[in-house]
Amino acid sequence: MPADTSTQQLIARRNRLLGPAYRLFYEQPVHVVRGEGVWLYDAAGNRYLDAYNNVACVGHCHPHVIEAIARQAAVLNTHTRYLHEAILDYAERLLATFPAELGQVMFTCTGSEANDLALRVARTCTGGTGVVVTRTAYHGVTGALAELSPSLGLPEPTAPHVRLVPAPQSAGDQTGEVFASHVRAALEDMALSGIRPAALLVDTIFSSDGVFADPPGFLRPAVEAARAAGALFIADEVQPGFGRCGEGMWGFARHGVVPDMVTMGKPMGNGHPIAAMAARPELLKEFGARSRYFNTFGGNPVSAAAGMAVLDVIERQSLVENARRTGTYLRERLTALRARHELVAEVRGAGLFIGVELRRGDSAAAGETTKLVNAMRRRHVLISAAGPSANVLKIRPPLTFGMEHTDLLVEAVDQALQENSID
Ligand code: PMP
Repeated sequence: MPADTSTQQLIARRNRLLGPAYRLFYEQPVHVVRGEGVWLYDAAGNRYLDAYNNVACVGHCHPHVIEAIARQAAVLNTHTRYLHEAILDYAERLLATFPAELGQVMFTCTGSEANDLALRVARTCTGGTGVVVTRTAYHGVTGALAELSPSLGLPEPTAPHVRLVPAPQSAGDQTGEVFASHVRAALEDMALSGIRPAALLVDTIFSSDGVFADPPGFLRPAVEAARAAGALFIADEVQPGFGRCGEGMWGFARHGVVPDMVTMGKPMGNGHPIAAMAARPELLKEFGARSRYFNTFGGNPVSAAAGMAVLDVIERQSLVENARRTGTYLRERLTALRARHELVAEVRGAGLFIGVELRRGDSAAAGETTKLVNAMRRRHVLISAAGPSANVLKIRPPLTFGMEHTDLLVEAVDQALQENSID
């Protein structure tokens, strides 16, 4: 069905004004005008079940977060060159969610900036430049991170100091030794080229690689391999962090490792641009001795208020527990679809971070996945796809998602798979 005239006009205006690098979701883009909880509303008043926006982790327009932002914005908004308690109160509360080794935190506005900063710290402290990332990783928009984000579609190899390793496989690598052996080989290859390693940088749920969560602990041998070669381990928690995995606040914790640095963003302010990098103080001691840091907007009082309010809601509404409970139910229901639809090959994930791999026999069902995502959109349920072949449904609803929303989502997948003979 072609988009209506007003949608076509908006698309044309957008292309004219924003240029060609931007991408829209869905064959029929959605023109959203309002959000509330797990729901988004379009200009015509239609309601969509949002099962994709991990930024609005406590639900769209949560009143407690909005009120905190508005209250602080009405009083003062400056930056970190003045003394202010808000950033310190927030830093204390945020750091309390980390292992004691990660004792300091620096604030940015985006996940990209947090990763960029972590990279600078890693390079300063190791004296190396090399970085190992996964084959379909995404870590951000800066020049340095675009080189570490092969999912952007850059030609391989990305840059001389970058080594790509295959994403961990859910089957056949129960101990993580296969993944670790790839990391080891990448570091050996780096050494052969005379490049010193600085970091192993991974998204701890491997979102853009297609969502790989199990078994917990599989990351550990790879981290040990990186450290043995002199590299630091940076856990990118921009996607899995803040309770989404349903066990504690952070994805790395499921793997029983303590990173050298942790980057976070997206859900941190429920849509307000706040991000951060937590680190071992000994690293920041060295970095701080050589560089100074100022980020005009990073860690301002309004951002700190937003971050604090998000933590309030996660705690008060027991959203980590909800992510675990609802996520388990959602995975069970999706897994049950395997009996009804040949295409559904594997359901993976932790908490409310779920990947559903669609295959036809041995082949990635990429075309069918795109069709399904669009069929779901026509049914007013929003999800997307990930993975090197874009054949993994990516499902990451707000952490307030309930059983009733789960039923709506699974019924939509079931019906959409039957529709137009996708299956
Ligand atoms: N790391 C990961 C794993 C991400 O998914 C993203 C954003 N999609 C980023 C970093 C970059 O965050 P931002 O868009 O806030 O710069």
